[in-house]
Amino acid sequence: MKIVRTMELITILNHCHRHRGFVYQHARFAPDRLSIEVDVRPRAGSAAICSGCHQPAPGYDHLPQRRFEFIPLWGFLVFLLYRMRRVECRNCGVLVEEVPWCDGKHQLTRAYMLFLARWARKLSWKETAESFHTSWDKVCDAVEYVVGWGLQHRTLESIRAIGVDEIQYAKGHKYLTLVYQIDQGITRLLWVGKERTLESFQGFFTVIGEQLAAQIEFVCSDMWQPYLDVIRQKCSQALHILDRFHIVAKMNKALDEVRAAESRQMAREGHEPLLKKSRWCVLKRKENLTSQQNLRLRELLRYNLQTVRAYLLKEDFQQFWEYNSPTWAGNFLDFWCYQTMRSRIEPMKKIARTLRSHRQLLLNYFKAKKQFSSGVIEGLNNKAKVTMRRSYGFRTFRILELALYHSLGKLPEPELTHDFF
Ligand SMILES: [Zn+2]
Repeated sequence: MKIVRTMELITILNHCHRHRGFVYQHARFAPDRLSIEVDVRPRAGSAAICSGCHQPAPGYDHLPQRRFEFIPLWGFLVFLLYRMRRVECRNCGVLVEEVPWCDGKHQLTRAYMLFLARWARKLSWKETAESFHTSWDKVCDAVEYVVGWGLQHRTLESIRAIGVDEIQYAKGHKYLTLVYQIDQGITRLLWVGKERTLESFQGFFTVIGEQLAAQIEFVCSDMWQPYLDVIRQKCSQALHILDRFHIVAKMNKALDEVRAAESRQMAREGHEPLLKKSRWCVLKRKENLTSQQNLRLRELLRYNLQTVRAYLLKEDFQQFWEYNSPTWAGNFLDFWCYQTMRSRIEPMKKIARTLRSHRQLLLNYFKAKKQFSSGVIEGLNNKAKVTMRRSYGFRTFRILELALYHSLGKLPEPELTHDFF
């Protein structure tokens, strides 16, 4: 008769989480019956590994038992129980051993940290913690471990194109500087800097080093002066392009200013807010207006004119991006600025002055043959905002930095022999 052996937890563990030099002994419920505990022992005759030099070393003594949290199973928390050995290493002295399932002082096993960190990319950290009956801090720990590993093991060679972007992360003008790689084959977040100063952006170049910086061919940025200065200083050989997405955003902001100022002015002069809301309907039904209303309409038109004209100027500027030749694009830009400077709409004039003073950088967009569409940086910028919104209990720089690297950095992950999906 053939005997079918029962599949025990130990058998499963040996399939998915086996480590040379260690064996699983017993699996049982903890006294509370809410978690499963698994004893781990060193395999007979295998020496401990020194955590200082990663070499085998003679044993010294045992530490008290520690609980290492593993991936939960069928609604039970799972812990590996192990007494760490200390070694007496010839090179390092008395040190605690190194174990393959865990790094340093972490309470979570490496497999569990990787598991949590993957979920923390799909859910918010809070939702991840709730889903797996663990704490926000442990999820944060897990992400920190995975991000740290990823940053150490990522390759930074052959970066052709970068984009630099600022993003507001708290009230009171708190900004981060984000640097992306925007090569055609790979777009990823390379670097997060505190503030948006000269020094913070320079920090990126310190990280990648002069040799890599010298190979960068394209840099895409907005018109923030400290960024422009650093790019000129660190990437003088690169073609510097102003990012379309940021210019469009600036223009929308100017239009908004015009509209807001105008509606404030109307309120001040005693016009009903109702008029403002129905102004387009009013325009359409002109033939039905009484002479009194006609008078008001003419007045309204006069006040609205600024908003309308600003809107038309903004729409008109869209053509700029359609050009192929830098020369014709330049002609268009000059004419648009000339027109706008005569508009007597101050926020728009301000835009025109800014564009004029960055004429060369704007035209670089066409020299780069539009290789880097605004979509790339805009997409990354949106993702970064979503990541920050979904965060994360504490809006400190460190937490945001981790969250951003985690979701946008395309970092490599530590490898496990088994895929814990
Ligand atoms: Zn050692």
